[in-house]
Amino acid sequence: MIQLSIREMAQLLRDKQLSIPELCSIYFDRARAFNQQTNALLKINCDIDPAELLQAEEALLDESKLLAGIPLVHKDLFCTQGMVTTCGSRMLENFVPPYDATVVSNLKDQGMITVAKANMDEFAMGSSNEHSAFGSVQNPWDLTRVPGGSSGGSAAAVAARMVPVATATDTGGSIRQPTALCGVTGIKPSYGRVSRYGMVAFASSLDQGGVMARTADDCGIVLSAMCGHDHKDSTSHPDAAWQWNLPTLKNLKGIKVGVVIDWIDGLNDEGVKQSTIKAIDTLRQQGAEIIDVALPHAHLAVSAYYVIAPAECSSNLSRFDGVRYGHRSIDTADLETLYVNSRSEGFGEEVKRRIMVGTWALSSGYYDAYYLKAQKIRRLIAEDFNKVFEQVDVLAAPVSPEVAFKQEEKADGVSMYQADVFTIPASLAGLPCLSMPIQSVHGLPVGLQLIGRYFDERSILNVAHQFQQVTEWHKAMPEAYK
Ligand code: GLN
Repeated sequence: MIQLSIREMAQLLRDKQLSIPELCSIYFDRARAFNQQTNALLKINCDIDPAELLQAEEALLDESKLLAGIPLVHKDLFCTQGMVTTCGSRMLENFVPPYDATVVSNLKDQGMITVAKANMDEFAMGSSNEHSAFGSVQNPWDLTRVPGGSSGGSAAAVAARMVPVATATDTGGSIRQPTALCGVTGIKPSYGRVSRYGMVAFASSLDQGGVMARTADDCGIVLSAMCGHDHKDSTSHPDAAWQWNLPTLKNLKGIKVGVVIDWIDGLNDEGVKQSTIKAIDTLRQQGAEIIDVALPHAHLAVSAYYVIAPAECSSNLSRFDGVRYGHRSIDTADLETLYVNSRSEGFGEEVKRRIMVGTWALSSGYYDAYYLKAQKIRRLIAEDFNKVFEQVDVLAAPVSPEVAFKQEEKADGVSMYQADVFTIPASLAGLPCLSMPIQSVHGLPVGLQLIGRYFDERSILNVAHQFQQVTEWHKAMPEAYK
């Protein structure tokens, strides 16, 4: 059962070979059993919510609603009405949202069942999930290693098949990198495709909700249900609604795939390098034309991102002042002390570091030197992509320069920041991108990133789907969880 696709599960439910409670109980049991080792989930529901079940049973009568009765977890920064939403932070430890995020309500409308909320790096800042206030997440492939971040809980939950689907978000790599390190498939759609309403903000010009699942087809089905225009999010695109259908062609003939040759040559990890080359070769065998391309400004992306993202975070997180939102210190002699103590107690180290860097970058005298300059670099990178997409349909690239690293291996911030060298460029340009499993090196998964033109999720999902028709890596799962 745990290896079935969404289409297969939907068929079983419609044929009445399985009921929604039967399907969900398999996953509720696995979630409870495996969370002890992985810590992937922060809050597991006791049972199916009766209102969700009712909605799912109704949705099941509608042939087009493939997600009726399919269980999922939400990354713990999507507001869930009546269910604690912590964002991995002490600051929001007791925050019970009075409403659902648009992503959550869209998926409920399709009849999906919420199993749990997934652990994450605090306020989505990190690449290892070690920055969660509620303990780090363990990678199901090797419990001594990180699952990646910030959506590490979502990725570990799908990898251990605690759920077939998880929502996640990506600001600079938080869907793709954990997806790669945990051996699952995940898509970050184009900026503006999925509503950010009810998604706790980190860096608003970059944050984008997306999905992780076993296969590209599963991701396409869930993304179709999540996306759409939302008047409650001013950055939601008017044409955001979109529908994934299985491609009719069975190969990649006529598709031009660009490869940033510098990125592959520069990989120090021989295993990741060879896996990437081999995967690109598979695409070639399937009929794709492989074309070498260059992104001349992409090497500046990490530096620009670590000015822009902290700047936006310093502004977004100013609302957590212990008065309107968030943890309030009991030590509150006067207003100033209330602010200082509440924020000092509520935020973790990494979040504080980002707030300080961002506040500094935005301060008078430094704004032009750092923030404005970073924005100019962002524009140059976007133009690099525009040029490349005049020549090719899709870009194939590494996701992470290495396989899952050991817990506490990257204790200094800067070496952790380098984990996102290949994911940040597409984030700065707002492009759709995905990660899919292509190999395993010493028992640890490796991912391939596919980047598409703005609003062309279809092409990257199509290439991933075709790849998964001739390979088995997306079916691999850690022995202990079979
Ligand atoms: N690892 C990156 C960071 O720490 C990206 C995080 C994200 O995409 N949310 O900012």
